[in-house]
Amino acid sequence: MTDSCAAPGLLPLKQALAQILNALPQPQYYELLPLKKALRRVTYQDVTSNINVPSFRNSSMDGYALRSLDHQKDTLNLIGTSWAGKPYTGKINRGECVRIFTGAYVPDDSDCVVMQENVTRLNESIQINQWPQSKENIRNIADDTSKGQTLLTKGRDLNAADIGLLASCGIADVAVFKQLTVGFFSTGDELIPIGSQANLGQIYDSNRYTLHALLEQSGFTPIDMGVIPDNADAVEAALISASKKCDVIITTGGVSVGEADFITDVLGKIGHINLWKIAIKPGKPFVFGSINNASFFGLPGNPVSVMVSFHNIVLPALKKLMGYSTSQPAITLQAITTETIIKHPGRMEFQRGFAENINGKLTVKPTGSQGSHILSSMAKANCFIVLEQNSSTIDKDQHVTIQLLDTHL
Ligand code: AMP
Ligand code: MG
Repeated sequence: MTDSCAAPGLLPLKQALAQILNALPQPQYYELLPLKKALRRVTYQDVTSNINVPSFRNSSMDGYALRSLDHQKDTLNLIGTSWAGKPYTGKINRGECVRIFTGAYVPDDSDCVVMQENVTRLNESIQINQWPQSKENIRNIADDTSKGQTLLTKGRDLNAADIGLLASCGIADVAVFKQLTVGFFSTGDELIPIGSQANLGQIYDSNRYTLHALLEQSGFTPIDMGVIPDNADAVEAALISASKKCDVIITTGGVSVGEADFITDVLGKIGHINLWKIAIKPGKPFVFGSINNASFFGLPGNPVSVMVSFHNIVLPALKKLMGYSTSQPAITLQAITTETIIKHPGRMEFQRGFAENINGKLTVKPTGSQGSHILSSMAKANCFIVLEQNSSTIDKDQHVTIQLLDTHL
């Protein structure tokens, strides 16, 4: 698909994102963290192993370690035991074997392990009913990782397996980029805190809660900075104060060009600004800029626009600031529509969808009304249905692209 159908004055998402990523500073600072604190943090440099894993030949079975050359013998004398953690280090001569357990050191003279299921145990000897091949049931030195090998490259978002991998190599601490402190405000005179009584014209501020959850689930440190009224002085004071405490500032609301939209003017005065109309739906107006050393993202106020803008613009930007080596676009899948999906050409759409497996096929359907203020259809969604700018209505039983959301299904 090309971007050629973007309505005039609207910037295609891909271009907006490329400009933002390009303008962001490279992260510099790092800290050394114990492994248990390093989940979802990003490696500051390549991590290399100082040891082989396994560091010694060990058994993959409970059984008997022996010499495959002895296969013409009917019975083998049992001369000792190699336990996991308590190796047998003596010799094994012709006609002898050693009891061995999974993970235990394989004595040097033996070249294979017979499973205990293939053995008849006599008193101090064994009769082998099925001889193993040489090397059978032995895990070799370095067959997982070897000394000097790069275990993880710079810019890796550490997951549970990575942490286990480092631990398996005896690595206690890992250098990771500094955590990003992300401050966020809601703007709007209509907003009241949850738990209070709403008067006519007032609404509960939901965006701060959504953003807090989005930041937390993405592994950043959220700092809730409250609500700023629609007043230029208040907006200015709040942003300057936030820029001193945070690496990133996110606001919601006030980025259109109405009389009550102050974000753009204030940012133009105290920082650097790009105001865009991005060719996405929902979420058209978007401000990107900086105040002092903090990067700034001004999202629209409508609750679903906040989520779409976060996933598709803010999150890739935060990942870059956090040191990720690549700003991979979200992984997408192809699913089959079970309903017609209404779409007009002009903007890329992120419709709320529910994807499920039906009779072995990945299917998707919209979750209801797609208005940018309708959070209930967002809450029912487990994916965005991603519709390119120039596409139009999609019939039932067609393939569409979906982007999975991090939700509990
Ligand atoms: P704005 O972008 O400020 O013009 O706001 C667009 C719409 O989003 C309006 O209906 C606002 O009332 C609503 N809105 C703005 N901020 C919030 C918020 N924090 N929580 C819920 N709705 C909001
Ligand atoms: Mg507003």
